[in-house]
Order: sequence, then C-alpha cells, then structure tokens
Amino acid sequence: MTFHIITIFPGIFDSYFSESILKRAQKNNLIGIKTYDLRDWTNDRHRTVDDTPYGGGAGMIMKTEPLCRAIKDIGRSVRGGKFKIVLLSAKGKTWNQRLARKYAKLRDVILVCGRYEGVDERVTKFIDEEISIGDYVLTGGEIPAMAIVDSVARLLPGVLGNKESAERESHSEPGLLEYPQYTRPEVFEAEGKKYRVPKVLLSGNHKKIEEWRGKHSKKT
Ligand code: SAM
Repeated sequence: MTFHIITIFPGIFDSYFSESILKRAQKNNLIGIKTYDLRDWTNDRHRTVDDTPYGGGAGMIMKTEPLCRAIKDIGRSVRGGKFKIVLLSAKGKTWNQRLARKYAKLRDVILVCGRYEGVDERVTKFIDEEISIGDYVLTGGEIPAMAIVDSVARLLPGVLGNKESAERESHSEPGLLEYPQYTRPEVFEAEGKKYRVPKVLLSGNHKKIEEWRGKHSKKT
C-alpha cells in the first residue's frame, strides 16, 4: 500500500516516518510513503499556493489550480488499483478505527494537507472524502495525515511484529477499550505508597487471566 501526501511542508514528515515501525515497514516494502511539494504544481515565479478570500475575512486560502493539478497527476499514477483521495479538513468525517480498517484494504491513498484558513471549496469536487481527526483545529493537515498513515499502516499484514497486537486492542471492536496492562516491577514504590500488579496476572492461570482481562476491558 502506498500513501501519497501533498503538502507545502514535505520536510515535516522526514523525522516521524524514518523511525521505528514505519521505518521498518517501508524498508521491508510493506508500505510506501511518498511526499509531494505542492509548489511543484505552481507555474508562477513565486510558486504561489494561496490567495486572499473572496468576500474578505482573515487569512489566506489555498488556491484550486495547484491542488487540482497535483491531485490529477498523482491520481493518474494510482489508477487501476483501489484508491481514495482524501482532503484533511476540520469539517470532515471523524477518523476512527473502523475507517482505518476500511482504508487498510486500499492500494493507494492520496492525502491532501491544507494550511492557512483552508482550501478553496471547489477542491472538494476532486476528492473522495474529507477527513477530520477530531473536533479541534490544527494549523495544517500534516499531523492528521501522519495519524492516518500510522493508524492504517499498523493494520497491514507484517507491519506489527506481533499480529495479535492489532487484533486485541482498544477499538478493535466498536466501543471496546483494552484491559489494564502491567510490566515489571511487581511492586512499584512512590511517595511512601506501594502500587502492586493484580495478583491474578502473576498466577500463571491463563483461564483466570483471560477472565480478569475480559472483566476489565471496557465497553463504552
Ligand atoms: N478555517 C478552517 C476551519 O475553520 O475549518 C481551519 C483551517 S486549518 C487552520 C488549516 C488546515 O489544517 C485545514 O485546511 C486542514 O487541512 C488542517 N486541519 C486542521 N484541523 C484539522 C482536523 N481536526 N482534522 C483534519 N485536518 C485538520
């Protein structure tokens, strides 16, 4: 699966995607992540991607032409497989684990990152879905794009070391929150208090441990 990210700040992604699980997944060809500088689709000397809003108001709006040219060019390269073109937007459908599973079945995802006061509304005619990562406003679509790449990639076969990690975790079923987890030491002392690991987890009795975990998983 390949993620294609259209942004005016491609450098933002270098650090996050070159560490840990996502680094290994790319090295093992389980995923591809391509970033594209939107300014490469401008054709003026200043490589302009924004302009003032019609009707007045604060800030700048991202122009239609460079975005639509980029979407069209990158879109052309992914035709033939299952793909989606997504605009990151605070007004979009809220991202969740169910959508992450749906996206994990695609071959390509094109993620369009807005900046400034957002993008010219006409861009929405050239995308498949508007996605928000929550009811708050960020300065750009780059963090939402990273959240989507990360949450989808970890569902793909072979990306996580342990297959069960993605099968039995929070949100793997609607409303399910994972049971509490503990690791060494058995007793943690702080500020004169002792914090112990629940006894059942030390018992070696797998049936009892499963029961305890079932009881302590939350349904929201
Ligand atoms: N004026 C816009 C509004 O009120 O909805 C907010 C624009 S925001 C400052 C700039 C860009 O950040 C947006 O175009 C979008 O790409 C991205 N963005 C901000 N918050 C987001 C969120 N919660 N989910 C996804 N993208 C977001």
